[in-house]
Amino acid sequence: MGDFPVFRNYIDGSFVEGSSTFESINPSTGETWAIMPAAGAADTARAVEAANRAFLSREWAGLTPTARGKLLYRLADLLAENAQDLAEIETIDTGKIIRETKGQVGYTADYVRYFAGLADKIEGSHLPIDKEELEVYLRREPIGVVAAIVPWNSQLFLAAVKFGPALAAGCTIVLKASEDAPGPLLKFAELVDEAGFPPGVFNVITGFGEECGQVLTSHPDVARIAFTGGPGTARQIVQNSAENLAYTTLELGGKSPVIVFDDVNLDSMINGVVAGIFGAAGQSCVAGSRLLVQRRVKDELIGRLKAKAEDILIGDPSDPATEYGPLATKAQIDKVERVVESSIAAGAILITGGARPEGYQGKQYYLPTILDCSNVKDADSVTEELFGPVLSVLTFDTEDEAIAMANSTNFGLAGGVFTNNLARAHRMIRAVRSGIIWVNTYRVVSPIAPFGGFGESGLGREGGMESVLDYTRAKTVWINTSDAPIPDPFKMR
Ligand code: NDP
Repeated sequence: MGDFPVFRNYIDGSFVEGSSTFESINPSTGETWAIMPAAGAADTARAVEAANRAFLSREWAGLTPTARGKLLYRLADLLAENAQDLAEIETIDTGKIIRETKGQVGYTADYVRYFAGLADKIEGSHLPIDKEELEVYLRREPIGVVAAIVPWNSQLFLAAVKFGPALAAGCTIVLKASEDAPGPLLKFAELVDEAGFPPGVFNVITGFGEECGQVLTSHPDVARIAFTGGPGTARQIVQNSAENLAYTTLELGGKSPVIVFDDVNLDSMINGVVAGIFGAAGQSCVAGSRLLVQRRVKDELIGRLKAKAEDILIGDPSDPATEYGPLATKAQIDKVERVVESSIAAGAILITGGARPEGYQGKQYYLPTILDCSNVKDADSVTEELFGPVLSVLTFDTEDEAIAMANSTNFGLAGGVFTNNLARAHRMIRAVRSGIIWVNTYRVVSPIAPFGGFGESGLGREGGMESVLDYTRAKTVWINTSDAPIPDPFKMR
């Protein structure tokens, strides 16, 4: 198979072949760059069984929470030390620009440190039952084996918000990387090995969704599923989990509105809109893909956004100077192309972009694109999640109109409001249906702040203490402190 690097799955503390292999493509060249292992049904089941043995083992279950935290701190240090290597692999495998992948590995390490610190802060509680002799309390115990499934974008980060709380809580895990770009997570498995987790506690595999993902999410030993991906796959996973009744959280897509009122200073907010849609070439679940702008500032804002979009430096994602790279997969770029064409055919006006850049034939680049959809509010680019660099602009006159437009989607992941009117900002915070709302900023995250959506954008939250508790289950303990005999149940008055 040529001289490509060959990756392996990490199961039960060993690096192993898959049941078959597949080629991974570098989207900036359109060529194969590595050979990946596909975990078949038997490999996947073996990983789950290893995680289940580890969950029950003294080696893991006997560790104190502080000791679990130390293992996670060690892993965070290794992540930070290996940021350059991991970022380079992510850039080759996904096309995401190196300055973003490097920054992201850095803050992924911070996320892991945050969860490491929470391992020994998982507290139970004392329950003030109305019986003097009874002492009743609630213990928080790890839920069991976790099946974690992530997509190809921001995968180290999306993995960390699952394995961080899961391991902090004392669970064990099988982490499945997307077949579209499994390189970074399979490389990361070397750090898991080096960190010294007992065998089987942390398994990293890749394989095809229909086989590997299906077995993983329906296996009887799996107690908890943590998924990030599209709503279609989420529905499939919920059906799979009918087999094991695993507690499931879902982080799904979005069609997030960015609402700009005419009282703002455009100079101070323009970068927020640009970062929201053209950062990571739009391949971000929180992409601010619908711009709702108040009529008075519409033309000026569109003019400035056009100039900004046309000024973004497109190039080789491995070059630190590059600001904008290719889309990760051929399916992505085909979808973007199809939807932009159908939206223009329906009446959307192309402001800029709308094509592959010159000089990038055979590669997966697509220009930053702005469509004025003011006259076609139901254009495909307004309604469908594209996961690509396409901004659809809509115009409103009143606050009520802006709210109605913002909420005219089944998604509800994020929203942005730009205004200098404090009272209006608070009204918008209350009215927009989304799990996250940013005011006068966009696309900022923190491990301390829960992340997740409403409606088709998902179930559950990642980040914050709440997400660690979500990997535990409550056990209610009843203790009789009286020396008196237990009353005869048939002679009670
Ligand atoms: P998919 O839903 O296609 O895939 C996500 C993961 O699910 C992949 O690992 C995939 O494996 C796996 N999978 C596919 N079929 C099954 C199955 N039947 N059972 C179990 N697992 C399966 O998403 P994309 O890769 O296309 O990623 C983009 C989506 O992710 C977008 O909708 C985006 O909005 C969302 N996303 C959400 C985020 C959030 O936090 N809310 C963050 C980032 C992205 P394989 O690759 O082998 O098919």
